[in-house]
Amino acid sequence: MTNVQSYDYIIAGAGCAGLSLAWFLVHEGPGNRKILIADQSLQARDDKTWCFWSSAGIPDAALIDHEWQKLEIRTDNHHGISGLTPYGYYCVQSDSYHRKMTSVLRESTNIDWVECRIDDIDTQNNRARLHTSKGTFDADYIFQSIRPVDIDAHELNLKQHFIGWEIRTEKPVFNTEAACFMDLSVKQREGITFMYILPYSGSQAIFEYTLFSEHLLPAETYETEIRQYLKDRFNLDEDAYTVIRKERGIIPMVDNGFMPAQNERVINIGASAGLAKASTGYTFTRTHTTNRKIVQLLKSGQPPVPQNPSPRRFRAYDILLLYIIKYHPASALEIFETLFKKNRLVNILKFLSEETHIGEEIKIFWSLPHRPFFKAIYGARRLLLTAFSSR
Ligand SMILES: Cc1cc2nc3c(=O)[nH]c(=O)nc-3n(C[C@H](O)[C@H](O)[C@H](O)COP(=O)(O)OP(=O)(O)OC[C@H]3O[C@@H](n4cnc5c(N)ncnc54)[C@H](O)[C@@H]3O)c2cc1C
Repeated sequence: MTNVQSYDYIIAGAGCAGLSLAWFLVHEGPGNRKILIADQSLQARDDKTWCFWSSAGIPDAALIDHEWQKLEIRTDNHHGISGLTPYGYYCVQSDSYHRKMTSVLRESTNIDWVECRIDDIDTQNNRARLHTSKGTFDADYIFQSIRPVDIDAHELNLKQHFIGWEIRTEKPVFNTEAACFMDLSVKQREGITFMYILPYSGSQAIFEYTLFSEHLLPAETYETEIRQYLKDRFNLDEDAYTVIRKERGIIPMVDNGFMPAQNERVINIGASAGLAKASTGYTFTRTHTTNRKIVQLLKSGQPPVPQNPSPRRFRAYDILLLYIIKYHPASALEIFETLFKKNRLVNILKFLSEETHIGEEIKIFWSLPHRPFFKAIYGARRLLLTAFSSR
């Protein structure tokens, strides 16, 4: 019989979900539990730039690398730079997050770390088991963030997909006053297409050519568009800047994507739990707030299976928007343009954070073209029923 090492909890995957869960377990958890953290690489990776506008969920404000107090929106018929109070727009680099979190977690004697390939997760005798290239481990619970959401198992199977270039220019050209949330004035392809810009300094910024759509583009296409945008918007020829880092993302935007557990012993966390907000792809804040809830459940002796963080009506709003993007993209563009033109940006952010009350939501919907939503209510009626009938 093979030797199995036992733990109270195993965290399978040490990305932002795994590390933040470990952080909450150490600082707010039931205490004195043996924890194993397993990942194929325990090194910090500079491959993701996480942004969000409410810092309430993150463990420590010192994790924030950049912040802006204003956001820019550009469409064909509207351009605005708006203040965000009471929010800010915050940015965390994945490598600095990893370094800061692990330097705290490595001090905990309750945590073991193993760098290994995870081959399988199953359950036996009411224990969760992790099968890896370094042996088998078992625990009361495994919290896993290694299995991606199966996007194509959903009818609304969109993705937020992008390639980003972080560039450095010879001369300062960027306005650091505001990050650009969406520049929708770029040529539209399938779905919704926009440029997203984070100006870190006058001479350093990240440009992400982004789509909300079903099909990925060849890598060269995203990069050609970034090159062209730098020329058109900033008059930057290729020899005027250096690409210092590239970033690629494919984030699920699906109907009814929340899946909190594989079974009662194997709990999903982070992106694997379907925590990407369906209509925006933002996942970082919800990962932290949901992890904190998981730890509260453990502490109170309950099964650590969290509720869907989205109230039912917000799941329904997301489904309507995804349906319109997938089946009526021209209407979707008109909706985005009208949304930004007729509503204050802070109200939109509050709505996207699912913090609005119903009166505020009616006001927002009233400002938008109505017909596409009526069509979507009919077309997506089965998905809406699922959203309203699930937990
Ligand atoms: C480039 C990019 C930018 C993003 N930007 C934002 C943003 O601005 N705001 C926002 O809210 N969300 C953003 N997201 C979405 C979301 O926040 C991220 O995807 C986030 O990294 C999800 O964290 P996670 O821990 O769930 O998954 P991951 O960070 O992917 O972590 C999973 C971990 O599991 C490990 N692993 C996987 N398979 C195995 C295996 N077989 N064996 C061992 N280890 C394994 C991996 O090495 C990894 O460390 C972004 C996503 C991407 C890809």
